[in-house]
Amino acid sequence: MADYLICGGTSYVPEDGNTGAQMFASGEGLTYQDFIILPGFIDFTADEVDLTSALTKKISLKAPLVSSPMDTVTESEMAIAMALCGGIGIIHHNCNPDIQAQEVMKVKKYKHGFIRDPVCLTPDHRVSDVFEVKKRHGFGGIPITEDGKMGSRLMGIVTSRDIDFLEPNSDKLLSEIMTPFDDLVTAPAGVSLDKANEILQRSKKGKLPIINEHFELVALIARTDLKKSRNFPNASYDANNQLLVGAAIGTRETDKVRLQMLVHAGVDVVVLDSSQGNSIYQINLIRYIKSTYPELQIIGGNVVTAAQAKNLIDAGVDGLRVGMGAGSICITQEVMAVGRPQATAVYKVAEYARRFGVPVMADGGISSVGHIIKALSLGASTVMMGSMLAGTSEAPGEYFFSNGVRLKKYRGMGSLEAMECKGNSGGAADRYFHGEGDTIKVAQGVSGSIVDKGSILRFLPYLVSGIQHGCQDIGSKSCSMLRAMLYSGELKLERRTISAQKEGTVHSMYSYEKRLY
Ligand code: GDP
Ligand code: 5GP
Repeated sequence: MADYLICGGTSYVPEDGNTGAQMFASGEGLTYQDFIILPGFIDFTADEVDLTSALTKKISLKAPLVSSPMDTVTESEMAIAMALCGGIGIIHHNCNPDIQAQEVMKVKKYKHGFIRDPVCLTPDHRVSDVFEVKKRHGFGGIPITEDGKMGSRLMGIVTSRDIDFLEPNSDKLLSEIMTPFDDLVTAPAGVSLDKANEILQRSKKGKLPIINEHFELVALIARTDLKKSRNFPNASYDANNQLLVGAAIGTRETDKVRLQMLVHAGVDVVVLDSSQGNSIYQINLIRYIKSTYPELQIIGGNVVTAAQAKNLIDAGVDGLRVGMGAGSICITQEVMAVGRPQATAVYKVAEYARRFGVPVMADGGISSVGHIIKALSLGASTVMMGSMLAGTSEAPGEYFFSNGVRLKKYRGMGSLEAMECKGNSGGAADRYFHGEGDTIKVAQGVSGSIVDKGSILRFLPYLVSGIQHGCQDIGSKSCSMLRAMLYSGELKLERRTISAQKEGTVHSMYSYEKRLY
């Protein structure tokens, strides 16, 4: 009995673990690996956890996941998949501005209730023109109108099936192969989306043209969209029911032209892509954007200290991108001797930025679901990922085999290979060099390959579910509650020794298979 201290009830619980403020007070830079989160109390199921989180002051996402603007990670296919799963993709700028704007447009046009500006052709166009549209935009269902524009009289429709067995350079007239107006199922202007959907389902056709009383085309509905909207209840939409998309730009004078094209293409948010964002170039650009496009949301960065963040917040950013040197392909800390371990960077910047209502995106160094949960627990609202999403079927580039393993290329935007990418006026080099006169490029990243991860459409639901389970273990019902717990001190963290880190991963096995989902 003498070993026990009787204190008359269980109301007394000793202090255990550290608050965020205590853990980061030591002055040492910490990585996600260096600490662990202590469990809390569970009185809800994992699928009740609400992951809604702010990307910027005005945009929030149902899943706090962002794909990085890298040319081996985010073009339109990735951005579409990210937005369908509740996140967002940021289209890279290592390409000519018109190509980047086109990628943005592909996302904005991807998923509509009604397609209000469908690409049209005339009966006098050729089969080769349809192939050209398919190559450029990815779809082959084309309404044929009198003058090839929306709003003129509908003459027929050409779909992929009409051209399946024809040569891409065929000069056959579309009037010869199209389904003529009299054979079309159409719906009248003013029809509700539900009613239009019903007609489309009954007709078993792939497209439903909507026409006014003068038989002029006013919109189009695609069957694929009906199926998709059923499958992706958490998709990220704008007010027009179009998918959200972001794009990265540099901070040079020429980027103002790029920006204008992106805005015309319908971009929702721009990310100012600098590895060290605390610069006069970025501050001036933020001011310019705020006065020229007041509605456009801006994410500034990258920053890793409160002092850097202050300048961008003062200039008017709507969100901050945090990380310098933590990326998987990154050699900045090695070469430049500048940067910050990512957990400390996220905590310090988020703790400062929250006072101004500016959300923080933790960028780089995420290599597991656990890292995402840790980033969110340290005050980030969203996480940006490169290597986690590279190697998926939606990432740009073809698969190749090496020693029997299916791989895709993944490279840093500061790798010599990306910066020397020929044939474009794009911005990989701009991210890493501020002076116009830099003649010798110093690489800040590497180029390599990454293993096939399958489709984002399977991978992201796994990440979402993993985050929900992590929040459940912590005892947090939502991302915002997680941040509240951090700042109230209820969330408890603990440093991990090297041996604790070893203990916390698979060990003592002769062999094992690591299947994650
Ligand atoms: P298609 O049969 O080759 O036209 O392709 P699908 O109908 O399978 O897919 C077309 C996708 O592209 C749908 O999600 C449409 O909403 C989208 N889309 C966006 N703009 C247009 C457009 O101008 N015309 C067509 N046909 N589809 C568009
Ligand atoms: P990952 O998710 O692969 O760990 O890191 C992706 C992030 O690394 C990107 O979002 C970007 O911020 C950063 N990054 C991309 N390319 C480079 C590079 O070449 N050098 C450095 N220093 N960072 C890079």
